[in-house]
Amino acid sequence: SDFRFRPEMLEGVAEHLTEGLKQFEDWFILDAEDLKKITDHFVKELEKGLTKEGGNIPMNVTWVSRFPNGHETGRFLTLDMGGTNLRVCDVRLSDRRRDFEQTQRKFLLPKEVKSGTGEELWDFVAERLEAFLEEHPTGAEDGTNLPLAFTFSFPVDQQNIRSGVLQHWTKKFDVSGVQGQDVVPQLEAALARKNIPVDVVALINDTTGTLIASHYRDPQVKVGSIFSTGTNAAYMEECKSIPKLAGWGLPDDAKVIINTEYGAFDCDRKILPFTPFDHQIDSESLRPGTQLYEKMVSGLYIGEMLRIIMVKLHEDGILFQGQDITRLRKANALDATFLSIAEMDITEELEDMREEFQEELSLSPIVDEMKICRYLIGLIATRAARLYACGVAAICKKNNLRKCHVGVDGSVINKYSGFKCRVSQGLRDIFDWPVREVDLIALSASEDGSGVGAALAAALAMEDSAQIVT
Ligand code: BGC
Ligand code: MG
Repeated sequence: SDFRFRPEMLEGVAEHLTEGLKQFEDWFILDAEDLKKITDHFVKELEKGLTKEGGNIPMNVTWVSRFPNGHETGRFLTLDMGGTNLRVCDVRLSDRRRDFEQTQRKFLLPKEVKSGTGEELWDFVAERLEAFLEEHPTGAEDGTNLPLAFTFSFPVDQQNIRSGVLQHWTKKFDVSGVQGQDVVPQLEAALARKNIPVDVVALINDTTGTLIASHYRDPQVKVGSIFSTGTNAAYMEECKSIPKLAGWGLPDDAKVIINTEYGAFDCDRKILPFTPFDHQIDSESLRPGTQLYEKMVSGLYIGEMLRIIMVKLHEDGILFQGQDITRLRKANALDATFLSIAEMDITEELEDMREEFQEELSLSPIVDEMKICRYLIGLIATRAARLYACGVAAICKKNNLRKCHVGVDGSVINKYSGFKCRVSQGLRDIFDWPVREVDLIALSASEDGSGVGAALAAALAMEDSAQIVT
C-alpha cells in the first residue's frame, strides 16, 4: 500500500470545513525535488561540521574507533539517560560470537528532575542505579568495581571516550550547572556519595550505541539513528576526512564514529520549509533558534504541531465549535502516541480516535472533525518522516554508501505504524530507485543500543586503555 499522504481521506467531509485545508497541503507536502535539495544542502553541512571552523551541525568525535568483532566478553553495567526514561542494564557478553544476556530496569525521569539542579539529577541517577544493584546483585561486592558505560543522549564535546562536556541541553532538559561542564565527574561524584562500586569507562551517545549494536548483529549496518523524542544519527568516518582532527597525529588509516548531532541542521535557516507553526514551536521552546531540524521532525514536537494547528482551526471557526478547549490549549498536551493511535484507527466511526480525544483533551468531536484531524496528522507525520529521510540520505550520500543498512531505534520509527514506510518512500524519492526494486538503503529496527551497544563500547574502551598501559 502507498503510505504517502492521501487526500481522499477527506471524502464526504462538509465543504465549509475543508476549504481552509488547502493551505496546509502547500505548507506541509514536500515533493521529491524538495527532498533532493534539502539532502544536497545537508551533505554540505555535514562536511562543514568536520572542519576546524565548524558549521551548524556539531559532528562530534566520539573516540570509538572501530566496530566490535563479535568476540568481546565481560560483564558491564549500562546507564541510559534518554529523553523520557532512565534505563539501567546489566549486560554479560559471552565469548560465543554475538551472544549476550541482559537484565534491565526502566525508571521514568520525572519532570522536576529534568529541570532541577545538576546535583539533584545525578543523585537521582545514582539512587536508581543503587536500587537496581540491590535487586540484581552483580557479585562485584567483593571489592572489584564493575565497568559502567553511560549513554548520555545529548551533544557533548569529547577529548576521549570517558569524558564529555555538555554543549547544551536538548529535548525538554533544562538542568542547571551542567552545560559547559564535563558530565562524567559529576556522575562519578554522585556515585561516590553512595559508595556505588562502579567505574565509568565510556560515555557514549544513543546513536553511537545503536550503530555499534546494529553493526554487531549485521555488519551491513553503516549508520545508526534515533527517531524518538529527539532525532540524530552516527556513522564511522575516516579521520583523514576530519580536518578538525588534524594535529592529533592519528594514524593514516584511523577511523572514528561521528555523532553528527544533526538535529541542529539548518539553524541558520537556509533551506528547511518553515511554516508559521514551526516558528511558533521554536519560539515557545526552551531554547529558540536551536535544534531546528529536530523540532520539525521528532516525536517531542509532532504532537505539539497537531495541537497548535487544532487550536488555530478552532479559532478559525472550523474545529470543536462550542466546546471547551481548555485542555487543548495547554502546551505539550499531546505526544506522538496520539497521532499514531489516530492514524491506526480503522473503525468506521473512529471509535479509538474518539476515545483518545475524550481521554487526552476532554473533547467530543464529530466524525468529520476527526477526519480532518487525521488528515492533518497524515500531513504532519509524512512531512516529519520525509524530512528525517533527508538526514539519513545525506549521511549515505556524503560517504558514498549506495547500499547499506541503517540501524534505527526510537519510539516513533519503531512503534508508529506506517512511519518507517514513509521514511523509505522518502529515500526512494531522493535516490530515484526504480519502483519494485529492493531498497538499497534499508532501515532495520534496533533496540539494544543503550544495553549491548553501550556494553560493547565499554569493552572496546577497556581493550584500548589496556593497550595504552602495556
Ligand atoms: C540529542 C542527541 C540524541 C537525540 C536522540 C537529541 O536531542 O541532542 O544527542 O542522540 O536527541 O535521543
Ligand atoms: Mg532513548
